[in-house]
Amino acid sequence: MHGNNLKFNFGFLIEASPGTSNNFEFEYPRMIIEDEEFVPMNGKFSATRTGEGILIQGKFITSAEMDCIRCLELSQVAVNSFIEELFFYPPSAAPDSDSFTMGEDGNVDLSPLIRQEALINRPMQPLCKEDCKGLCIECGANLNNDPCDCEIDDIDPRLAALKALIKESD
Ligand SMILES: [Zn+2]
Ligand SMILES: [Zn+2]
Repeated sequence: MHGNNLKFNFGFLIEASPGTSNNFEFEYPRMIIEDEEFVPMNGKFSATRTGEGILIQGKFITSAEMDCIRCLELSQVAVNSFIEELFFYPPSAAPDSDSFTMGEDGNVDLSPLIRQEALINRPMQPLCKEDCKGLCIECGANLNNDPCDCEIDDIDPRLAALKALIKESD
């Protein structure tokens, strides 16, 4: 298989009876699909013969370069996609032009589907790491690698007001 595409031949499954399933795995350190670069692009999926074609079900893992919402550092953020898609066979059986189809030769190129899903599944709130400490609200230091000496009173503002009142009445 060529490093820049995800073409599979499911011709042998087309010959098999419905319910027959095969597992596939791939790992690429880097893949370009159209204009998008994916580093890495790993996948694990099953292809199952159904009455209508081949059902692809699996998990595809890549990453995207995004700004962390807490520390604002450009980071590689994991992007996981779970895909379940029917590729119609014969192609003429597809109900509309948006449907995915298999070629008459049994070939399927998964890259348009995987590209689309990888872009959709980019996190809305990317984090450089699960426990990113973010930036100090006082001095702006990145607390992951540069702990500062600021004393942050992270008390609830309503409680702070109450505290001030208590102090006053002392
Ligand atoms: Zn971060
Ligand atoms: Zn600080």
